[in-house]
Amino acid sequence: MLDIAPYLVRPGEPAGLDSRDSQSKHGYEGGKADGEAALAVLTARLADLQIRLWAESRQKLLVVLQAMDTGGKDGTIRHVFSGVNPQGVRVWSFGVPNDVELAHDYLWRVHRLTPGNGAITVFNRSHYEDVLVVRVRGLVPEHRWRKRFDHIVQFERMLVDEGTTIVKVFLHISEDEQRKRLQARLDEPDKRWKFAAGDLESRKRWDDYTEAYEDALTSTSTVDAPWYVVPADRKWYRNLVVSSILIRTLQDMDPQYPESSPELDGLVID
Ligand code: AMP
Ligand code: MG
Repeated sequence: MLDIAPYLVRPGEPAGLDSRDSQSKHGYEGGKADGEAALAVLTARLADLQIRLWAESRQKLLVVLQAMDTGGKDGTIRHVFSGVNPQGVRVWSFGVPNDVELAHDYLWRVHRLTPGNGAITVFNRSHYEDVLVVRVRGLVPEHRWRKRFDHIVQFERMLVDEGTTIVKVFLHISEDEQRKRLQARLDEPDKRWKFAAGDLESRKRWDDYTEAYEDALTSTSTVDAPWYVVPADRKWYRNLVVSSILIRTLQDMDPQYPESSPELDGLVID
């Protein structure tokens, strides 16, 4: 398992995206093959922790996953959770809100999908879009989205107070890496389905998105619901870091199998 401390956005300190290297391996000496072998070990560990969480059924984990387009959210979910029992993990993806969602406050659609006891829930995009794309594209005026940092901190604190553990992960890619990945989506027939024309518009606003992310991560990384900025230009390293973050978080939760009744000891089924 990797040391995840370098990736934490320390509460009260700037996220400092421009000084974080999206290609970094932070001293990890291995290459891709080593990283993939290491991930297989971590995946088994994650599966074990997930079963305990499910069996204990008293705690719950919310994983918020954010990234620029092509940042690797889908691939991260696919790799990091491979080998984990699908029954205990829910993934919810949040796209452009529909009319009913828009008729409500922006937390309405996410709140009802937060995890219940024993579950791990992954938000593939989240309520953070409401201070990111909404801000960059001017979908609501600043006096409204600005207040949302505060709402979000309070909302997450409420979830934590009521028994949810929250961990938030930003997959950090460089502008050049995004260029390569978008190009690959155009060039490789099997990847074309992922290409959205709107991605090019967003790419033009790279600096605005970076600024919005910088503000969002800085304003909402708390002791209770911390953000991690994961170097994500190398997919295999990204997977190792995300897996390590989840394992560390679940280890701290320390889920236990429920105590079995002593009456079961020595019982023989005939
Ligand atoms: P994808 O994740 O590639 O399926 O794209 C989903 C799209 O939905 C992205 O372009 C997001 O920016 C957009 N989206 C997600 N949440 C919101 C929101 N609250 N308001 C507007 N657009 C959103
Ligand atoms: Mg997309």
